[in-house]
Amino acid sequence: MLQQVNGHSSGSDAQGRESLREDLQEFLGGEVPLHQLDDLTKVNPVTLETESAKGTSASVLRCLQARYTADTFYTNAGCTLVALNPFKPVPQLYSPELMREYHAAPQPQKLKPHIFTVGEQTYRNVRSLIEPVNQSIVVSGESGAGKTWTSRCLMKFYAVVAASPTSWESHKIAERIEQRILNSNPVMEAFGNACTLRNNNSSRFGKFIQLQLNSLLVPRDHQMTGAAIQTYLLEKTRVACQDSTERNFHIFYQVCTRRGLQLPRCRAEMEAPTHPTKACLSHPSLPPLTLVLTLGCDLDSFSEDCFEVTREAMLHLGIDAPTQNNIFQALAGLLHLGNIRFADSGDEAQPCRPMDDGAVRTSALLLRLPEDPLLETLRIRTIRAGRQQQVFRKPCSQAECDTRRDCLAKLVYARLFDWLVSVINSSVCADPASWTTFIGSRGSLSRSPPSEKGQEGPGRRGSTLGLLRADPFSSLHPSPHPPRLLPALAPQVLPFLAGLLDVYGFESFPHNSLEQLCINYANEKLQQHFVAHYLRAQQEEYAVEGLEWSFVNYQDNQTCLDLIEGSPISICSLINEECRLNRPSSAAQLQTRIESALAGSPCLGHNKLSPEPSFIVLHYAGSVRYHTAGLVEKNKDPIPPELTRLLQQSQDPLLKVLFPADPEEKSQEEPSGQSRAPVLTVVSKFKASLEQLLQVLQATTPHYIRCIKPNSQGRAQALHREEVLNQLEACGLVETIHISAAGFPIRVSHRTFVERYASLRRLHPQGSPHAEQATLRALLQDILHTLPALEAATPAAPAGATPAPVHCGRTKV
Ligand code: ATP
Ligand code: MG
Repeated sequence: MLQQVNGHSSGSDAQGRESLREDLQEFLGGEVPLHQLDDLTKVNPVTLETESAKGTSASVLRCLQARYTADTFYTNAGCTLVALNPFKPVPQLYSPELMREYHAAPQPQKLKPHIFTVGEQTYRNVRSLIEPVNQSIVVSGESGAGKTWTSRCLMKFYAVVAASPTSWESHKIAERIEQRILNSNPVMEAFGNACTLRNNNSSRFGKFIQLQLNSLLVPRDHQMTGAAIQTYLLEKTRVACQDSTERNFHIFYQVCTRRGLQLPRCRAEMEAPTHPTKACLSHPSLPPLTLVLTLGCDLDSFSEDCFEVTREAMLHLGIDAPTQNNIFQALAGLLHLGNIRFADSGDEAQPCRPMDDGAVRTSALLLRLPEDPLLETLRIRTIRAGRQQQVFRKPCSQAECDTRRDCLAKLVYARLFDWLVSVINSSVCADPASWTTFIGSRGSLSRSPPSEKGQEGPGRRGSTLGLLRADPFSSLHPSPHPPRLLPALAPQVLPFLAGLLDVYGFESFPHNSLEQLCINYANEKLQQHFVAHYLRAQQEEYAVEGLEWSFVNYQDNQTCLDLIEGSPISICSLINEECRLNRPSSAAQLQTRIESALAGSPCLGHNKLSPEPSFIVLHYAGSVRYHTAGLVEKNKDPIPPELTRLLQQSQDPLLKVLFPADPEEKSQEEPSGQSRAPVLTVVSKFKASLEQLLQVLQATTPHYIRCIKPNSQGRAQALHREEVLNQLEACGLVETIHISAAGFPIRVSHRTFVERYASLRRLHPQGSPHAEQATLRALLQDILHTLPALEAATPAAPAGATPAPVHCGRTKV
């Protein structure tokens, strides 16, 4: 059928051509000579348009496979661009020359599908003098699919095309801001990315970066003058533990390669080819480190090179060498902290013993903390109870000591990450006032929920734009670079923004917990946003064409969102309630509560035959089983106040900034039982930050890039159909086809239709509009003759859909 005509348009293999011929013959009801096939493959646009809901996944897959074989990695699918990961360097695809070609093209959408088409469209929409609108590009896909790569390329694209040379002086400054924005990538990736089973450079946080495009000296020509970054849900647990085949955040390995400083140096010692190995410090006075490395990661050369890149980038962002030293020293302190092991004292009244005093001493030294209080805080809990609020000191069990140690490491790392994001924001933000003006008027990112004391969760991740006003360097070493742009570059008009969202895709593992619930919840929200935009765009086009819209009958995923976040009762509200009540409840009880309270929801799956307590949610992308064990505790994400208080005692200038002493702070001992203040849970904070993001996205014209991972081994030229099909479903592409199939999925302009198909009926339009219309009518009549055959070949149409497969609109067929 027609979608296959398009699907094979670039297929070079004989098999593809043969199959294309068959499709065409079926469509046109006659023989198609091969030379005509060649003509067709030249003129047909490359899209994944489809005309029926059934069997479309297979034809989309066939199309993508043919294109992948032909080294064509980008394909249009309605308002989405599908990006297949080449898993090999394709430098010519990302050259500055090609960027300029897309930028200069009168109609970039007529060039081959590319992320630069999306980038350029976004740029032009922002630039439009009639009605400039803020734009956003949502890049999604599973881990390793290429989201971060795509976002990076788009940032480079803007750095090239939005860097119009003006006067020498301002050009120099402009270059600096572009360079700084690009430099944010290696720093964010060093601290926020890690080697995982699925991706050697996996982002362990979500990122939304808004690029500020201002018209400066040349009207209508926008220049990139600043950026603001918001991050979401950093996977801070990775600091303390990783799967045996995964790694900690890159920066730890980079720091370990450091030479010529007072810091310990780390050396990788490969033990056996199939086991994770331990890296240790070769510094004579320091104990070994238990940094787990995955084989194949050449610590000494790769990390060393990356470390240079990170340091250079930090310097460009205004983080000077002494501040960098502070950061690296704190990171080394965290590594040594991880080495502290406790042994049970054998007496409940006695605290556990540290198995190695060296680790305590070294981490205290590097974090510049008093050694005894450090040990005490890790081993002893203080509780305030009773009418008199008496303070009790309770020795922790060995497991509790380990939890407190890990909590301390996570707390420092998460704050450090947030602080870095705020430093980067300070450095790349052109004019904080104008940001606040713009964003504030549309639901400010800066209005993130206030952080609760003793709470650390996704909602307070990342910098808030409010932070931009405060100088993150204030208590540290003075920066050699001004963190903000010179006034000469202050915007003269309200800035317009191109937002780039690099978010984790839909996840479904054998074991799913709170992290997956948050991630899939975010994906449901984004999917709803996408569907709303897509339906709206379709409706507008039908109106312009004078066609009926009323028959398009499509239900979005609101029911699933109601189940997750709705009020008064939803999965989120029930988990939050368990946290609030702070009562001991088992995983099985939580399962029962969810299942009984939400039994009426069609999106709650039947949870039979499960050996572990869990519940099932039927997401748009598939059903996911969430395990309830540990869910409530994760949602609380408790941070013993003693830990924060300990860190406030640090003499380290960086830690002093990360954990400022609070003079008004009253007693912070952990209150007991019911006197606990209401906590802002992980889910609540995540929900709030998601709502803010959606508000920002809703004020923009969205563009979508769906990254697809052709195979899980990261091999070039290998497309595994099953894996790709799963992703097409997970990224909502199959759903898009369903929506599309509810209306008119293929829309071709009268002229293109005539140009494309006239030769097949040996008709030769003379070029006048009149002749074109005559040919069009003849062609349509031909098609209507084959209608019975078409109808027989078309699977049952969705309820309410019109049975007529071809309609002629004002400008399109
Ligand atoms: P995660 O969710 O784990 O962060 P991701 O979707 O951000 O994954 P990337 O890190 O962008 O994935 O890509 C994974 C790897 O795939 C890259 O490190 C790179 O090697 C390769 N890759 C991705 N896109 C391209 C491309 N367009 N050209 C060449 N290689 C690519
Ligand atoms: Mg990534």
